Amino acid sequence: MHHDNKSPKDSRYDVLFEPVPIGPVTAPNRFYQVPHCTGMGYRYPRTEARLRGMKAEGGWGVVSTQETEIHATSDLTPANEGRLWDERDIPALKLMTEAVHEHGSLAAIQLVHNGMHTANRFSREVPMAPSAAIVDQNDPVQAREMSLADIKLFKQWHIDAALRAKRAGFDIIYVYAGHDMTLLQHFLLQRHNHRSDQYGGSLTNRLRLFQEVIADTRDAVGDSCAVAVRLAVDELMGDEGLEHDGEARDIIEALAEEPDLWDVNLSNWSNDSQSSRFSEEGYQEQYTAFVKTVTTKPVVGVGRYTSPDSMVRVVNKGILDFIGAARPSIADPFLPKKIEEGRTDDIRECIGCNICITGDNTNVPMRCTQNPSVGEEWRRGWHPEHIESLKKPEQYLVIGGGPAGLEAARALSQRGADVVLAEAGSQWGGRVSLESSLPGLGAWSRVRDWRLHQLQQRPNAQLYLHSELSAEDVLSYEIPNVVLATGSSWRRDGVGRANRRPLSFLNNGNVVTPDDLMRDGVSCIQNNGPVVVFDDDRFYLASVLVELIANAGIEVVYVSPSPIVAAWSEHTLEQDRIQKRLIELGVKLVLSHNISNMDDDSLTVKCVYAGSETKIPMGTLALVTARLPNDSLWQELSAVESQWQAAGIKTIERIGDCFAPGLIATAVQSGFALAQNVGLESVPIVRREDYSSL
Ligand code: ADP
Ligand code: SF4
Repeated sequence: MHHDNKSPKDSRYDVLFEPVPIGPVTAPNRFYQVPHCTGMGYRYPRTEARLRGMKAEGGWGVVSTQETEIHATSDLTPANEGRLWDERDIPALKLMTEAVHEHGSLAAIQLVHNGMHTANRFSREVPMAPSAAIVDQNDPVQAREMSLADIKLFKQWHIDAALRAKRAGFDIIYVYAGHDMTLLQHFLLQRHNHRSDQYGGSLTNRLRLFQEVIADTRDAVGDSCAVAVRLAVDELMGDEGLEHDGEARDIIEALAEEPDLWDVNLSNWSNDSQSSRFSEEGYQEQYTAFVKTVTTKPVVGVGRYTSPDSMVRVVNKGILDFIGAARPSIADPFLPKKIEEGRTDDIRECIGCNICITGDNTNVPMRCTQNPSVGEEWRRGWHPEHIESLKKPEQYLVIGGGPAGLEAARALSQRGADVVLAEAGSQWGGRVSLESSLPGLGAWSRVRDWRLHQLQQRPNAQLYLHSELSAEDVLSYEIPNVVLATGSSWRRDGVGRANRRPLSFLNNGNVVTPDDLMRDGVSCIQNNGPVVVFDDDRFYLASVLVELIANAGIEVVYVSPSPIVAAWSEHTLEQDRIQKRLIELGVKLVLSHNISNMDDDSLTVKCVYAGSETKIPMGTLALVTARLPNDSLWQELSAVESQWQAAGIKTIERIGDCFAPGLIATAVQSGFALAQNVGLESVPIVRREDYSSL
């Protein structure tokens, strides 16, 4: 393939930059941002448009919306997805297509009718389904069986929405049957479709509606828009669901040449977007590889690909035509550009933590652990690659080499400041280095490695390990700006959500914290008898520590005031996998219980509902509750504030966990924000969408 205006440094990657026709349109390369939720949706259209435009700027040849509701009978409120109920929704979506077209990429829209997946909380329309059914959302709402007249109406809604999408400027229009969330998939599935008319029963009947909607969409917009189909090729539930070597294959064989593009993946969402704790790069290949053998149409698939070599392999082996990506394109919108320019070491690789997904699941714009500009592109004007050089660069001393300190130092040095980064320990990365050594979290070390690699290339950044700084040291250096990124420590006093005051009984027995376990491994467990891990943090860490302890052959009991294991990990789509893993490890689960007393060899647990107490055998209690900032250096420096000026110090600021313990994503963002705000008269007020009209 000949390139007129591209000169990739490494010809191995040329194949990734070939244009690929998709029906009546042509993608400029093989980098395809598949539809993914952002939590920005119809309520924050400018935020959404800027995010998608950024991906086009970074070289993604196709940039898609998230699922976009076609009608008020598919109302996902309070989720914040795309919306195309009527003409009034066109201008918001047009912002996105214009932002994408500005960089020569194609804009795709994933039209959706969610059928019985949603309760229609806002519109109060009665949900619709192939057969009468209770909805997926936990609401006491049932969907009604669609009549033939309803089916006709639905088909018209889809046509109308496709026409509106075309008017909004989209180049690729999806017919979507995936994630166990869509009416079209519900019709395909035996477990949802119990009809006996021409739309139910045999596979030919069950795929009739899907086939008709593909044809309708082609007839309506196919002259100038490509028609893409997104189909779940396996649901990982055996013959209860679609299987890649069963009906999913039959469906693709039956419809092989009907769409212009096949976008194939796993269903449901937690199978599609598996975290790195539970899957490796390329985890979908074994399910999707067959598709190209049964169709001549281009195929896109995902699998958290961040390595250009894997991408080339997938294309050259004929597994996929397009490298589909959601998360890798969030972590690095400029991934394609970096490959094209021969800067593969600069790729900010997704760590597979699924923090981005928590945005959609909590109905707010998403954030990303690796890319702190995500969600801030429009409202703060942040860019993942460019940051203005400082007019008068000053010197900075950053103390603490965890994610906050590394990011602050990196971004400050990018702006041209001279940066000294001092870390007390013998390795960089702070909590990221500790946590990435735990079972399943290895990929998290990328947070450290990317930043360190960037810093090591900057002559204006000096990095010092083994440098625990005191207040006296700080005053003696005469560096005008000091940034404290000294992190946090896990509490040993029991204070958390369920217990707001210190627990005095903790002195009666053996207690360890996550810091002990991460630093020393299971050697910090001195006592015989089971280890009880008390999880009042309710995210991932307690369950990972349980794995660490169980893998060492030590009996573990998991106690939590929550009724499920690792409750907040529902938002990262990991909860059921975590609970399954603990059960499979033989860990005893004591749920809905607080801790209320202990001695040398037992723990008393208390039911959070009934208050009844039970004594269980225990050797050591591992507390995973909450953290306290490591702010002693801050306290010492605050106490001598009157000496700052004489020591040449202008500013001392705290960032990351030493300011307030939080997510790694929060620490990274606070380092980035510090660097962004240098030189500004005052921190700008962030723009809000709700006070202005389109
Ligand atoms: P964050 O998530 O906010 O970046 P971490 O706990 O990951 O916080 O990292 C904090 C880092 O700061 C740790 O690596 C720790 O060793 C280092 N640190 C703490 N106190 C000092 C100090 N006085 N001097 C130098 N480094 C310090
Ligand atoms: Fe990847 Fe985590 Fe960023 Fe999501 S939040 S894109 S999983 S690094």
